[in-house]
Amino acid sequence: MTDPDVIIIGAGHNAMVCAGYLAQKGRSVLIIEQSNHCGGLASTREFFPGFKASVAHTIQNFSSKVIDDLSLTKHGLDLSQYPLQTIGLSRDGECIRLDSSKDQPRVSGLDGKDEEAYAGYMARMQTFADMLKPFWLKTIPRIGSANLQDMTTFLALAVKLRLLGKDEMGEFMRIATLPIRDLMDENFESDLLKAVLSWDGLLGSKMAPRSPNATVLSVLYKMAEKDAGAPKIPVSGIDGLVTALYKSARSSGVEFKLGQPVSRVLMDAGDHGVKAVGVVLADGDVIHARKIVSGVDPKQTFIDLVGVENLEIGFTNRINRLRCDGYVAKLHLALDSLPVFAGLDSPLGRLILVSNMDSIEFAYDDAKYGEFSDRPVMELILPTLCNPDMAPEGKHILSGHVMYIPHQIKGGWTEEAHDRLYQNLIELLEHYAPGIREQIIFGELLTPKDLEHQYNLTGGHWHHAEMAIDQMFMMRPTYEAAQYSTPISGLFLCGAGCHPGGGLSGAPGHNAAIEILRTEQ
Ligand SMILES: Cc1cc2nc3c(=O)[nH]c(=O)nc-3n(C[C@H](O)[C@H](O)[C@H](O)COP(=O)(O)OP(=O)(O)OC[C@H]3O[C@@H](n4cnc5c(N)ncnc54)[C@H](O)[C@@H]3O)c2cc1C
Repeated sequence: MTDPDVIIIGAGHNAMVCAGYLAQKGRSVLIIEQSNHCGGLASTREFFPGFKASVAHTIQNFSSKVIDDLSLTKHGLDLSQYPLQTIGLSRDGECIRLDSSKDQPRVSGLDGKDEEAYAGYMARMQTFADMLKPFWLKTIPRIGSANLQDMTTFLALAVKLRLLGKDEMGEFMRIATLPIRDLMDENFESDLLKAVLSWDGLLGSKMAPRSPNATVLSVLYKMAEKDAGAPKIPVSGIDGLVTALYKSARSSGVEFKLGQPVSRVLMDAGDHGVKAVGVVLADGDVIHARKIVSGVDPKQTFIDLVGVENLEIGFTNRINRLRCDGYVAKLHLALDSLPVFAGLDSPLGRLILVSNMDSIEFAYDDAKYGEFSDRPVMELILPTLCNPDMAPEGKHILSGHVMYIPHQIKGGWTEEAHDRLYQNLIELLEHYAPGIREQIIFGELLTPKDLEHQYNLTGGHWHHAEMAIDQMFMMRPTYEAAQYSTPISGLFLCGAGCHPGGGLSGAPGHNAAIEILRTEQ
């Protein structure tokens, strides 16, 4: 095989998006993945004989532009299933249902006042989400850049803001970094509604309703695409997305090497400083390329794959200080039959088990001090209701995201701690779905520590690096490596650690490809 133009490390969904764009422009691309499958956290695996699940279990804001550009529909992606309803369930049996479609956002299970307020709130948030939408698919320029394209991006943002009108522009500036609790208190009365609506801003981050930071921006990011961020499952599960990305990349000529961990980025010390010129595989094989793109998290990319000996000390310090500790654990249950949730005819939907914003805040408080809560908060879906073939006939899977489970806990993740958390979760589920304990054939609990190990992902972090204002936009992952290019010539980033961050969006992969092609002009 001749040396490819570009090597991409890791076959996460962002890497496959990036590869697809580069290959469409005639670049020869080789993706090298450590595991035996593509998709990273979106890959589907058998966690118990006959029962399959993926860590990421729904799609909320996958880019429609990427779907079109990479012909993902032609390659089998089918997102035509109606989005899942979000169902909020409180401990004392209250239940609300949210349909967040753009045309007719509706909430049921509340009094008329909050129902009306919900429609108004969603309309205003959608205006802000639409205003920001173009910028998730753009490189955010460095401050002070005199480059024409960069200045145009800033100018476009200013114009978009101004077009909101003076009052709405002021309102956007006011709420953008507001603690989401304040935004909820200003708009609604129902404690359950407030908790459920704040959930999407918090999920995956080390923030709670009282944290002033990026939670409102995260909600707007999720609302950017169709159906205002309502969770969706492709017709053939999350695997439908991964398979379509793989087929699209292959049809453009992208080559894949699976089961081959990259152990180093190969450097060449030239007259103008070090340059990335290839990769060294774990088995010692060396492959050269003109450009190396990493879909692996930034900390691992720079510290482990590049090596501190090739980095400026100041940059090394910044990368070492990146906050990458994950706060979400994953629960997979193989169930003998469909569980019955009190008050629900069917558990079809995304179920959020929270009572109010305090229940979220208290769970976070424990996590801040290296504990996990006795009263965890979680969302769950039963993917087998949409895709029965993920389990043997008549059997079901429960897939749960458990918030505020720290990567590091006091005393470490011993077997006892692991088991205590698992039992807490089963107790919680038993409260909502009496009898579920007896329906469990097998349970798998992946703490952020387990995710780190299984997916080779620093901290097991949802976004590869915390989504906080100081690690977003032109500072993601750090100011010096924020435009997909890095201080190392020939080395680029394309994963969730880049703007605009994690989740199954394809946006970092798209933006990285555009930027890599731009550097060649
Ligand atoms: C518990 C949890 C639940 C989540 N649920 C959702 C959800 O429901 N919906 C949603 O939209 N998002 C969800 N996310 C977030 C989402 O899954 C990630 O943000 C997204 O998958 C990141 O994609 P990526 O392509 O950037 O990286 P990844 O998916 O992390 O892929 C990186 C790839 O690099 C490979 N790799 C690592 N090191 C090496 C090496 N040395 N050599 C070769 N290959 C290497 C890995 O094996 C992996 O395949 C969840 C995240 C977590 C942690």
